[in-house]
Amino acid sequence: MPDAPRTVRVLIWNEHLHEVENETVRALYPAGIHGALAEAFEEVGGFEVGTATLNEPDHGITPARLQETDVLLWWGHKAHDRVSDAAAEAVQEAVLSGMGLVVLHSGHLSKPFRRLLGTHGSLRWREADEKERLWNLRPDHPILEGVPDQVTLEQEEMYGERFDVPDPDELLMISWFQGGEVFRSLCTWQRGYGSVVYFRPGHETYPTYHHPDVRRIVVQAGRWAAARLRRDARDSPNADALEPVPNPGKEHIL
Ligand code: ZN
Repeated sequence: MPDAPRTVRVLIWNEHLHEVENETVRALYPAGIHGALAEAFEEVGGFEVGTATLNEPDHGITPARLQETDVLLWWGHKAHDRVSDAAAEAVQEAVLSGMGLVVLHSGHLSKPFRRLLGTHGSLRWREADEKERLWNLRPDHPILEGVPDQVTLEQEEMYGERFDVPDPDELLMISWFQGGEVFRSLCTWQRGYGSVVYFRPGHETYPTYHHPDVRRIVVQAGRWAAARLRRDARDSPNADALEPVPNPGKEHIL
């Protein structure tokens, strides 16, 4: 008999500044963007959901907490520089050792995302209340299960190419914007033992994280990226040979 599906431990990290400082954003996300995302996971079930925000001690993301996390979601926008290098490094190490990371919207400029991809993550952008159409390139992929061939968001911020990231291992969605630009809006990369997902929509002044297809994609991205294994990727052992070799135990001169 196959094992019962395990509970996936999700940690949702949110900068949580716009919702505190801006009336429009607070009205859209009274429990914070992290609260709306947590609700999306809880609706589906099968997840143990926690949240963390910038102003908590250590931003709520200590190595110990990450060790207990299968997948981390990341929403940040105006305070990337206030995230400590130690926290960014902890996220990077956790991903390399198997934790999943789902980076949302303006997290393309976050420290963990840039460290893991090794590029700037820059792009062109515009706030003009324009329509976005996301085209589903991989309806067979677990992240896009049950998602229609195209998803329309009536108003979103525009993100356009060139998106400064390494070629994704998997390109799952492309966005078209009313103003003419296109963008690689759902991508995955493997880093060490971990998976990184980037999903574009989610500007704070629009109700994007209440959209059922967006919520479905976020939850399925979390489930897909969740750690399948945790192993310290820093281990680089001196290996005993399995078969006879000419000089076993030969001195290694540094
Ligand atoms: Zn934005």
